[in-house]
Amino acid sequence: MAMLEIVLVPCLSDNYAYLVHDRETGLCAVVDPSEEAPVSAALQKHGWTLTHILNTHHHWDHTGGNAALKEKTGAKVVGPGNDRERIPAIDIGVSEAAPFVWGTRKVRVLEIPAHTKSHIAFVFDEDKAAFTGDTLFAMGCGRLFEGTPAMMWQSLSKLMTLPDDMRIYCGHEYTLSNARFAVTVEPGNKALQARLKDVETTRAKGEPTIPSNMGIEKQTNPFLRANSPEIRKVLGLEDASDTDVFAEVRHRKDNF
Ligand code: ZN
Ligand code: FE
Repeated sequence: MAMLEIVLVPCLSDNYAYLVHDRETGLCAVVDPSEEAPVSAALQKHGWTLTHILNTHHHWDHTGGNAALKEKTGAKVVGPGNDRERIPAIDIGVSEAAPFVWGTRKVRVLEIPAHTKSHIAFVFDEDKAAFTGDTLFAMGCGRLFEGTPAMMWQSLSKLMTLPDDMRIYCGHEYTLSNARFAVTVEPGNKALQARLKDVETTRAKGEPTIPSNMGIEKQTNPFLRANSPEIRKVLGLEDASDTDVFAEVRHRKDNF
C-alpha cells in the first residue's frame, strides 16, 4: 500500500484544511474545509478530484466549505454520526463503532469530546497520520465549549495511546502562542525550550509548524503533561489528580 499524499491548505487567518490523496485508488479527501476557494485551488494545482469531505466537528471554520465543495464535485461528506444536524450537507455518519472505510483503508475514528460534544479524530494507522481538529494542537488543546476538564483529559488520554511516530495534523496554526504559554508552566523542560526556538524560526519564515507527532507532543505539550513534577510545582498542585492539573493548565491558558 503506497503512502498517502497529504497537502496543507491554509484557510481563513489561521486554519488548516488538508488534502489526503490516495494515488492507488485516485480517492481524495479534504479534512475540515473552512472555505471552498483555497481547497479548489489546491485540488486544481495537484490535478486531484475531490471524492470525500471529512469533518472533525461542526464549527463553521471546519465545515464552511462543505456545501460548495459538495455541489462542485459531488464529494460525500463524512462526519460525527451523533451530530448530523450540525454538520452541513452530511452524507455518512461515523463513530468508533462505525469507522470509515475509504478505498482499501479502514480509517479509525476516535471519539474525543469536550471542545464540542461530538468531536472526532480520523486516524490513518498505516500512514501514521491523525487529524485531531480542535482537540489536540501542537503544544495546545482546544477550548472546552461543550465539555468538562475531565472529559477533555479523557479525550487527550485517548489520543496519547497513539504511537510516538503518529503525525498530528491539527486544525489551526496556534503553535507559537501555545509554545510561549507552555514555557510559563514548565520553564525547565529542555525539549520544550528547543521546540520554542524551532517554532520561532519556522514562523519567522512564514512556514507551517504542522505536522507534529505524538512523541514530541508528549514531551512538550503541557496539556498532555499533567504528571510533570515541574508543572505540578509551578501550579502548586503537587498532590492533585491529573484531571485537576489539566484543568488548571487549561484555566491559565484561557487567561494567558
Ligand atoms: Zn472548533
Ligand atoms: Fe477551529
